[in-house]
Amino acid sequence: MGRKSSNQYDVIVVGAGMIGAAMACLLAKQSRDYQSGPLKIALVEARPAPEFDTERFDPRVAALTEKSRQLMERCGVWDATAAKRVSPYLAMEVWDAEGTGRIQFDCHDIHQPCLGHIVENSALVEALLTEIAEADSVDMFCPSLIADYGNTDQGISIELQDGTHLFGDLLVAADGANSAIRKHFNFETVEWEYGHQAIVTTIRTEQPNQQTAWQRFMPTGPLALLPLNNQGDQHHCSIVWSQKIELAEGLVALDDQQFCAELSRASEHCLGQVVEVEQRFSIPLRQRHAKDYVIPRVVLVGDAAHSIHPLAGQGANLGFSDIDVLAEEIARAVERDIDLGDLSILKRYQRRRKPENLATMAAMEGFKRLFAADPPAVRLLRNLGMSTLNEISPIKNQLIKIAMGL
Ligand SMILES: Cc1cc2nc3c(=O)[nH]c(=O)nc-3n(C[C@H](O)[C@H](O)[C@H](O)COP(=O)(O)OP(=O)(O)OC[C@H]3O[C@@H](n4cnc5c(N)ncnc54)[C@H](O)[C@@H]3O)c2cc1C
Repeated sequence: MGRKSSNQYDVIVVGAGMIGAAMACLLAKQSRDYQSGPLKIALVEARPAPEFDTERFDPRVAALTEKSRQLMERCGVWDATAAKRVSPYLAMEVWDAEGTGRIQFDCHDIHQPCLGHIVENSALVEALLTEIAEADSVDMFCPSLIADYGNTDQGISIELQDGTHLFGDLLVAADGANSAIRKHFNFETVEWEYGHQAIVTTIRTEQPNQQTAWQRFMPTGPLALLPLNNQGDQHHCSIVWSQKIELAEGLVALDDQQFCAELSRASEHCLGQVVEVEQRFSIPLRQRHAKDYVIPRVVLVGDAAHSIHPLAGQGANLGFSDIDVLAEEIARAVERDIDLGDLSILKRYQRRRKPENLATMAAMEGFKRLFAADPPAVRLLRNLGMSTLNEISPIKNQLIKIAMGL
């Protein structure tokens, strides 16, 4: 804090995906009014900045909760993101492929305008990076590869491949699920394969999506159809089809017409026929959780700390909660004039974030196993449970509020 020489920073954030870019943006905003002056921040990203394509939907989308949307508002980027393209969803319909269990959630039941928003990753990151470019307190190194890390008496150090050295009081690892920082600093993880791959793509359907998120649970994995809105045209969905690896490989290899037919069948024609499909991508799914998120001067956030099954669309939302809490703890440290890399500060962040992250991961694992289970008794109970829950409004409404982060 206070005056720093040109290559010295209060915080170095590595990774400008949704979580790292939001971290840099939030810190820049919140520190504008610090008595000691704004925090000096470096943001390092290996890949060129993504460009939002107005013509085509990004195959990578995230269903953002209201809590995450509010955070984006505080970052000053919600309006800019919405001006590019966001798709509010008003309802959610979840059903079991192996029975009659079905549950519907509707925003009107809890007097909200929507349940959440489907946001294209590139739209959000582009808005965040534009906002960051206007902040004098953030230096962006992009695209820039990191050659080495070190710990010096000037703090944590990073050497970029072009020979530039950066020094920071705190290094925030937002470098994603395969975090090189996590590996370099020997953070231990607990991880296991789901044995699933997620096929992601954009489809066009015969019937409009009704601004509803559709999710069908099959024993081989869940299929989600997330409604996309293009200037009032509601015939597109982003799909996340999690499948056992061998099945996913077979589906990716199909030609477009065969794939559309398979997907129409798998979605039980909930939106009629699938009539068009864009390029398909297959993403291996692996659950991973760092045993610790912090060591002195280094902190993991977002997928670098935890990556979870996308079946409930919570990964990015958890990451946004991470950075919200970390920013609060940083503000607290500045107020008390404590070194930002001090373990006591970082441990407070870890204590506040671990329980929710672990609970969400456990819930996702439970869902996955519950719907993969084949014994008739389990199937019966699962279907009965869903249908019963669907009839109990107070519990259902409470569930919606929790899912929205309200
Ligand atoms: C199929 C699928 C669907 C999903 N749907 C949802 C959803 O609906 N809702 C939701 O909340 N979440 C969802 N998620 C999860 C969500 O996508 C992730 O949690 C989120 O993208 C993680 O963001 P991140 O910034 O932590 O990591 P990433 O998005 O992986 O970003 C990491 C960044 O770091 C950069 N980087 C990596 N290494 C270096 C390095 N050494 N130096 C510099 N830069 C580096 C990368 O280039 C990248 O830009 C989904 C995930 C999947 C796979």
